[in-house]
Amino acid sequence: MRTQEFITRSPEETIELGRKLASELRPPRLVLLRGDLGAGKTTITKGIAEAFDAAEQDDVTSPTFTLIHEYRGPEFSVYHIDLYRLDTQRELETLGLEEIIADERNLVLIEWGEKFPSLMQQFQVEIAIERTGPEERKIQFKNAADFADQRG
Ligand code: ADP
Ligand code: MG
Repeated sequence: MRTQEFITRSPEETIELGRKLASELRPPRLVLLRGDLGAGKTTITKGIAEAFDAAEQDDVTSPTFTLIHEYRGPEFSVYHIDLYRLDTQRELETLGLEEIIADERNLVLIEWGEKFPSLMQQFQVEIAIERTGPEERKIQFKNAADFADQRG
């Protein structure tokens, strides 16, 4: 499928887009959330987690320090992971990510996953968010074939 592109003009619109895109993210899925700090990676996760009845949007917060947040829905679990503070493959391996990814009831959303080549090979979807104004974001939804060139 071709890359889909969207523009949002408020955090609320990004959350709403996350809800809509969730229909294309039925587990098992491993998703790269790509974008600068403050782009809206955590914001779009709010909508995605809500769509799976896994969390209320206000309960979805950045896993900056805890690294992994797990939100359990009736059918699936949504894992929101932030690797910003991790630097080495060795640190990555202590997280137990492989087990989380292997569980077919899990949707796994990873911020800063592009830092790790071992993960880049596994992502099935990339959601790339770019700040195009104070409250405007360009959001691209890409399937694996559309970002294969960036996998290195
Ligand atoms: P990230 O996880 O990418 O670091 P966050 O989602 O935590 O980013 O933060 C995004 C910030 O940008 C929030 O403060 C949010 O309110 C603000 N913002 C402004 N406009 C938008 C928009 N259109 N979409 C998403 N976030 C927006
Ligand atoms: Mg974040």
